[in-house]
Amino acid sequence: MSNERVLIAGAGPVGLVAGAHLARAGVPVTVFEEGADLSTESRASTFHPPTLDMLDELGAAKPLIAQGLICPTFQYRTKKHGLLAEFNFSAIADTTKHPYRVQSEQSKLTRILYEEMRDHPNFALEFGCEVVGASQDASGVDVTIARGGQRETRRGRYLIGADGASSTVRRAFGIEFDGFTWPDRLLVVSTPFDFFSVIPGLSSVSYVADPQRWYFLLQIPGLWRAMFLVNEDASDERVQTEEFAQSLMAGVVPGISNYEIAHTTLYKVHQRVAKTFKLGRAFLVGDAAHINNPLGGMGMNGGIHDAVNLAARLAPVWHGKAAEADLDRYDTQRRLVTLEYIQKYTIQNKKNLESEGDEFGASLRAIAADPARTRDYLMRVSMIASLARAQELG
Ligand SMILES: Cc1cc2nc3c(=O)[nH]c(=O)nc-3n(C[C@H](O)[C@H](O)[C@H](O)COP(=O)(O)OP(=O)(O)OC[C@H]3O[C@@H](n4cnc5c(N)ncnc54)[C@H](O)[C@@H]3O)c2cc1C
Repeated sequence: MSNERVLIAGAGPVGLVAGAHLARAGVPVTVFEEGADLSTESRASTFHPPTLDMLDELGAAKPLIAQGLICPTFQYRTKKHGLLAEFNFSAIADTTKHPYRVQSEQSKLTRILYEEMRDHPNFALEFGCEVVGASQDASGVDVTIARGGQRETRRGRYLIGADGASSTVRRAFGIEFDGFTWPDRLLVVSTPFDFFSVIPGLSSVSYVADPQRWYFLLQIPGLWRAMFLVNEDASDERVQTEEFAQSLMAGVVPGISNYEIAHTTLYKVHQRVAKTFKLGRAFLVGDAAHINNPLGGMGMNGGIHDAVNLAARLAPVWHGKAAEADLDRYDTQRRLVTLEYIQKYTIQNKKNLESEGDEFGASLRAIAADPARTRDYLMRVSMIASLARAQELG
């Protein structure tokens, strides 16, 4: 029976959502994680309303909300004009059980899911197991793992590549990762400084447009994260110095400098989508399938939507209650909405923030003044519209 398991490469938020969903649906899963433990990197901090609805089905929304911040509003500002518009998710409260964003580190979600699942009879997670190769035949998949200097091969019925942007699974099956890498890098500076005390009416999620130096401010429990795009020629080493971070932070609130800085992290920024999300018995989900800039918080959220879409199809197929062909719809639906929504809007969000904000500001104000347009807009930014579009694709 062991080679009937669904094998999952990667215990990030997306791999664990897929594993939890399948295990609860009666499908035995084994997750291989190369790390000795779950990652402590905070990276994603925004959970959108439909993602919270999905996590609720796994019993993970309540503990996540308890450890995070509920943020019903978000704002757009410019350095030049101040507040452009504020939006409140209460306008779409009839479409979701969670009409707000939750701000919480992704590393909290992975721990919640692992704690929930670790004793489940259908769930196994093996740490210190790097997936180094994969192949498939008509009846199953073979995954080569490296553990403690030894290699072994494990057989399963299906393989889910949830092993992040550099996915070994994607490479093993020769699936191209089309797109581009921005020349700019993203610097995240975390500080316990209380921005509410110096920026009147600030929202916990605020995007500030500026053609010279845009940034956004996101509150998480105990900290604010300020994210800047760095396009200078400065080396990675220099960009990660305290002095460099202080120089960027000094541009946030006039007259305030010398912040207490908890940490800084530098990221490359990409926009890439895999040529296919399904090849025979192998699937790609999350960052293994698509990566994008973090403006709008759609990467992990979209990945969790992939995981839920796939697991909801794979479980009935595994149990013999649905046709194998139904699995093709995973690729049809999720790849297209990744291109139509996640890639399109994250690129648009970046362009908007790089502008003076005049045209973009006028458009936002017009949306905010019209309840029907506000509703459509919130359906889009919350990603509910992308899920509806996926369903339309059949
Ligand atoms: C600064 C920043 C802010 C962001 N903010 C947001 C946000 O607010 N909202 C949002 O939706 N997204 C956000 N993102 C994107 C988000 O972080 C990613 O989309 C998310 O981490 C993807 O999850 P994942 O599980 O697919 O991959 P990962 O989180 O990368 O997890 C992959 C896991 O696989 C393991 N692994 C890798 N290779 C192997 C292997 N060969 N064998 C076994 N295990 C392996 C890794 O150790 C890791 O545990 C942000 C990204 C950045 C950089």
